Parts: sequence; C-alpha cells; structure tokens
Amino acid sequence: MRRKVSIFGSTGSIGCNTVDLLLRQGGAEAYDVKVVTGARNVKLLAEQAVSLKADVAVTADISLLDALTEALKNTGVEAAAGPAALRDAAKVKVDWAMSAIVGSAGLTPTLEMAKHADILALANKESLVCAGELIKATCASSGCILVPVDSEHCAIYQALAGGKNADLSRIILTASGGPFRDWSLDQMAAATLKQAMAHPNWDMGQRISIDSATMFNKALEVIEAHQLFDVTADQIEVVVHPQSIVHSMIEYNDYSVIAQLAAPDMRGAIGFALNWPERPPLPVEQLNFGTLSRLDFASPDEARFPALRLARRVLELGGLAGAVFNAAKEAALDRFIAGDIGFLDMAQLVETVLENLHVKASQSSSLEGLETVMSIDKEARLMGQNWMPA
Ligand code: NAD
Ligand code: MG
Repeated sequence: MRRKVSIFGSTGSIGCNTVDLLLRQGGAEAYDVKVVTGARNVKLLAEQAVSLKADVAVTADISLLDALTEALKNTGVEAAAGPAALRDAAKVKVDWAMSAIVGSAGLTPTLEMAKHADILALANKESLVCAGELIKATCASSGCILVPVDSEHCAIYQALAGGKNADLSRIILTASGGPFRDWSLDQMAAATLKQAMAHPNWDMGQRISIDSATMFNKALEVIEAHQLFDVTADQIEVVVHPQSIVHSMIEYNDYSVIAQLAAPDMRGAIGFALNWPERPPLPVEQLNFGTLSRLDFASPDEARFPALRLARRVLELGGLAGAVFNAAKEAALDRFIAGDIGFLDMAQLVETVLENLHVKASQSSSLEGLETVMSIDKEARLMGQNWMPA
C-alpha cells in the first residue's frame, strides 16, 4: 500500500527538499500524494503537483486560482485557492503530513493536520510558539505523532531515543550565530537586508535567514523546545557553535551529554521525519572526522542578541506570550524587509509589544481556541506595525 502524504508549503525551502526526497524515494509509485500547497509561485507548485501526481494543488493566494488552474489544465490535478481551501486540504486523512508553511499562516492548517494525519512532520515552529498547548492537546486526542523537523529539535528527539524527558537535566540548543556572530553593535545597527540574509552554513528561506541573523530564530526554538520536551527556561541553554555540525545536545541528570551530529543539510532532518521510525540512507554528505579537525562552542552575547533574553521572558509569562512575541517579530521582520526600520530596531519593537500586552497574554491560553490566539496575534501585529523607533 502506498503511503498517503501531504506537503504544506511545498514550494518553500523545506517544501522543495521534501519533494526532492519523495521523488528520490520512488515518487508517485511509492507515495499517494494527496496535497501540495504554495502561495505565489504557482508555476513551481504546478510542476511539483504533476511530478508527484498529487490529487490537489492549493495556492494560499486566491487571486492566483486562474493561473494555477491554467497551469494544471489536462494534468488530472485539481486546483484550489485561498485560506478556506488550504484548511480543507489539511483535513484530508493522510499517513504523513509535512507542515512547512512559514509564519503564523501555518497555524490553522497545522492544527487540522494534527487532527487528520497519523504523523505530523513539523517544520512550522511558529505553530508551537503561538499555540503549543493546543497543538499538543490536539495530537494527544487524535493520536497524531509529532516528529520535529527543525534540525535542533530533531537532534534532541533522536538523542532522547534511549531515555526519558523526565530524566533530562538540560537541553543544549546549538546556534550558528548567523552572519553577524562577530559583528559589533555599531555594525549591526547599519546591517542591510542583503547582509542579514547571507547565512554562513544553511540555505533557507528569506524570513528564517534574517531570523537567524537576529537570533530570533533561536528564540523561537527555545520556546519550541519548551513545548516539545517539557523543559523549563532554566533547563534550556543556547550555545554558539559556528560549524553547525552538532545539531543540539541533551544532558541527563547524571551529567551524561548526548549529541546528534550531521552535515548541515535539512534533508537529514526532513528524511528522518519522513522515514521515521526506519532509517534508510539519505542524500546527505557523510561526516569525515579526519578533516573536520575542530568543533567550537561559546556562550551567546545577549547584549547583541536580545532575542534570547526575550524568549526567557516569554516562558516566564506563559499563556499566549509566544503568540504575541511571534506576531510582533513577524511585523518587525516585514518592516525591516521593507526598509522601514533598522536591524536592531526589530528586537526593540518586539520587546515593547510584549511588555504592552504582557498582562493580557499571560492570562489567556491557546486551549481557549484558535480565535483567541488569532485575536491576540492581530493586536500584537498592529501594535508592531505602528511602533516608532525612539
Ligand atoms: P520559505 O519561505 O522558503 O517557504 C514557505 C512556504 O510557505 C512556501 O511554500 C510559501 O509558498 C508558503 N507560504 C508563504 N506565505 C504563506 C501564506 N500566507 N499562506 C500559506 N502559505 C504560505 O520558508 P522555509 O525556509 O521553507 O520555512 C518553512 C518553515 O520551516 C518555517 O516555519 C521555518 O521556520 C521552518 N524551518 C525552516 C528551515 C529551513 O532550513 N528553511 C529550518 C528549520 C525550520
Ligand atoms: Mg533550527
């Protein structure tokens, strides 16, 4: 029997790597592909749908329905568009679903995948940051198994295979430090979009690349680790590791540390989630310890990377602080990309919004439902859009 699979955000960086792996592992002969989704790049979306013989291709952008329909004419693939179509597509029962839409736009489809997929491969960390309790409760009631795709969390998941969460003393999340690892605050203040996008080790989408430069990505990952592995802020340490070979580590109560190492290629983590619990060969580079020669580690500088301090504040506040943090961060990122605010302004914007909404955020929970999450997301986003640098 072919495995039924869906890929949400198939046209992105994680999505394209997922499609590549599916094709290498037998494509439509091995997999019954139900859904592929994208946004603006309908040409690529149509190509992917045809190569995988998907049942339906969905673009999130309703104005592109005609273009997608035209691109899929006489192919046997159905075209659909808009947020409602995206949500419906996530209700299709599958054995395995990849959640790889970027940002809080991935939240609604991810929640549906948690209800209708047997295995949820989760790249969209924002859904855990905004609504971790709700996603986890949904998986618990549907029986959906969540396998993390974020390389750090996938590493922790693998390292934990022989132990229990309850015996963990610490999680050590590695961070490359991004392109500005050794830059001064003055240099960072003047950083351009192009410089912020130039990640030294990983080839990723535009938004996560900039989030790596501010270390907002690592901040999201601290919150993601708290949600996934039931650890407190005190139990999560971020360590800068410029080579991106050690993808993260866990430490047990007896101070034994277990690390997962691999070349920095997301097909490792995506392939792990796709094949779990089997481990067939993957098209990733094998590590050569003879030439590797050194692995460096250092504590991050929170004066230059305040996002890490803000992540701890989010965990201290609890409730919907993660949703506020993420929405403010998305608004800040939009404004930096638009050239409207500077690189260092992003963290100041996020801190202001978080403090303005901290009482309300800490008094609500994602278990109240997605509407509550979306409502505070909207409020924080608007506040971020109107924020003015001092
Ligand atoms: P990307 O920007 O390359 O791709 C994003 C995908 O989402 C595309 O298919 C795009 O069409 C779709 N999309 C964008 N806006 C949308 C909207 N409003 N509604 C519906 N779909 C929309 O992003 P990426 O780098 O592949 O990242 C995807 C997710 O995986 C993010 O949550 C990111 O944090 C996470 N992640 C990525 C990497 C990586 O190496 N790229 C690593 C770890 C985690
Ligand atoms: Mg990561």
